[in-house]
Amino acid sequence: MPPEPVIDVAGLVKHYHASDGTVVRAVNGVSFTVEAGEMVGLLGANGAGKTTTLRMLATLLKPTSGTARVAGCDIRDDPVGVRRRLGYVSATTGVADRLSAREIFASFGRLHGLPDETLPDRVATLLEQLDLTGCADRPAGRLSSGQRQRVSLGRALVHDPPALVLDEPTNALDVIGARDLLDLLARLRAEGHAILLSTHRLHEIENRCDRFVIIHDGSVVATGTRESLVADWIPGRDGELEEVFFAAIRTGAAHSELQP
Ligand code: ATP
Repeated sequence: MPPEPVIDVAGLVKHYHASDGTVVRAVNGVSFTVEAGEMVGLLGANGAGKTTTLRMLATLLKPTSGTARVAGCDIRDDPVGVRRRLGYVSATTGVADRLSAREIFASFGRLHGLPDETLPDRVATLLEQLDLTGCADRPAGRLSSGQRQRVSLGRALVHDPPALVLDEPTNALDVIGARDLLDLLARLRAEGHAILLSTHRLHEIENRCDRFVIIHDGSVVATGTRESLVADWIPGRDGELEEVFFAAIRTGAAHSELQP
């Protein structure tokens, strides 16, 4: 039997209930997988349901129905097991200005129960891997945005989780910072991590991800490799992922207008 995917999302649904009684159907039965050593891009316009999907995976939000498994642990039945096996980098959570990268990594390592004897070595390896050794003891408030984003990533990686989920990780970065971060993610993928990242910046990741999942209005409208998406959505042309994206969400929009 083939190994189980590290991330296995199965029919996830999330409806938000506003105080005035209206219901926002943010995610409507989303399914996809991410294997070990694979990087998958979750693409969608503003409000498509990307953050809601990723927050459910990170066990920060309870699904209305459906579920997902992370390295064999179910997000509904075993959220603690999921958190041990997943690193989550959100679009909004900053790093504490007064603490250094070394202190942040050590405190997250302790939270994850890493033993005191091995923690300093783990922190040193991570600082090295993230190219933060030279500024390891500087307060994070005095780091560049790229360095701060690497501190966020290190915080999510300290317990060496098999799955890594990142919500728009390059948003605050310039082209060089974004390229460095994506190079780093490529190295983590080569080490066998399963990586899922959401982004609007299609050009940055079109040749970096192994597969893409395009969502529109909370539903998956297209999924596949860059090559298969181009062949399916703009046949006979060697177009860009952006063209595929527009074609897929136009079709998705036409379908959702047909829904009751
Ligand atoms: P963006 O790219 O703008 O971050 P997104 O694809 O991440 O968008 P979500 O943030 O998941 O989209 O939002 C999906 C839908 O759910 C949107 O219509 C949004 O307004 C709505 N939504 C998100 N959070 C809540 C909430 N707490 N209460 C009610 N509606 C919400």
